[in-house]
Amino acid sequence: MNLRCVECEAMFPPRLIYQCPACGGILETVGQDDVAPFSFGEGGTPLLRASRIEAELPGFSGEIWLKDETRNPSGSFKDRLIAAALGRAIAMGVRGVVCASSGNAGASTAAYAARAGVPAIIVVPAHTPPGKVTQIAAHGAILLLVEGHYSRSYDLARALAGEHGFANLTTTFINPYAVAGVTAVGHEIFAQLGGQAPSHVLIPTGSGPLVKGVWQGLREAGASARLVAVQAEGCAPIVRAFEAGAEHVTAWGMPQTIASGISDPLIGYERDGSYTLRLVRESGGCAVAVSDDALREAMQTLARREGIYAEPTAASPIAALRQLLADGRLPADARIVCLITGHGFKDARAYQEMPTRTHRVDDPRDTAAVARLCEAAIAERV
Ligand SMILES: *Cc1c(COP(=O)(O)O)cnc(C)c1O
Ligand SMILES: [Zn+2]
Repeated sequence: MNLRCVECEAMFPPRLIYQCPACGGILETVGQDDVAPFSFGEGGTPLLRASRIEAELPGFSGEIWLKDETRNPSGSFKDRLIAAALGRAIAMGVRGVVCASSGNAGASTAAYAARAGVPAIIVVPAHTPPGKVTQIAAHGAILLLVEGHYSRSYDLARALAGEHGFANLTTTFINPYAVAGVTAVGHEIFAQLGGQAPSHVLIPTGSGPLVKGVWQGLREAGASARLVAVQAEGCAPIVRAFEAGAEHVTAWGMPQTIASGISDPLIGYERDGSYTLRLVRESGGCAVAVSDDALREAMQTLARREGIYAEPTAASPIAALRQLLADGRLPADARIVCLITGHGFKDARAYQEMPTRTHRVDDPRDTAAVARLCEAAIAERV
């Protein structure tokens, strides 16, 4: 296995380097990896048919499938990247690991490092959802909270990796071994559809390693699909460049969205966004932004129609469905895979504001009254 620059195509032997020494470009791995991931049960997640969602889309005659990445050990697909990158870091004999995160990569690193007995420093924005912060802290990681947007945490993690000689497991395109770990998603989708490709894959997108993983995994399987990068309206640098027909993505200001997992303004590593945009275009796909209101509605749809409890980011493909079907970017007979990337347990706040069918029972001995209340509730349409 070797490293190759995606810009100038220079090749390098595998080392702990984070950008092309020749041109500063993004590095990728090529060839068979001879280092095993530090596995903990990640991957092999179910692909579930969403027939109730299909039935509620007017005029839709295709298929919708949910790749349920909430089932990974720490509750998000980030486990696939961290398993690969940590396996490599341990093989290279590092003293510890550092990871900048909007929450999920940090939770994953904290859990995997705990199991490996490796010191971990996790850097997150101070406003990271409490569920994710609690999860990271529970695993005993050194947790650093940094005011401001995610890119400031990114910069600090990069500096700390240098200071301590730790491996940087940040899950942008900075660690090529991590990104290689996510190609399995593409392979799994292809195999789970019986050796056929979907027509479209809808992907919650921050900097884009997941887009790259699906793109490359399908390609390695001899297949392809149109890839749709889904972002939040309050942080949509890739969508903005796509709509402008631009080649280069420019950084976003301060993100403003409930979708913490894709709140990445890309400040200082805009080239990650440009690379992702290139892959999206090459696939014949597109990039689309969804509002926080659409995210809330999609969360309810997933939870109430399909039994899947997802964090706001992870519901974004469902939020994008209606919009893309309405404007014809998704044909009515499309075979669509939606990546459900992170668990609802991580960020329950958005659900707590939603209407529920909860009732306080004052007198549990009056079963007839409680039964009447339940009958009335069953008769309601929700
Ligand atoms: C990190 C993350 C994403 C975005 O992944 P990228 O590979 O950075 O584009 C999507 N969903 C969730 C839940 C995440 O944690
Ligand atoms: Zn280069």
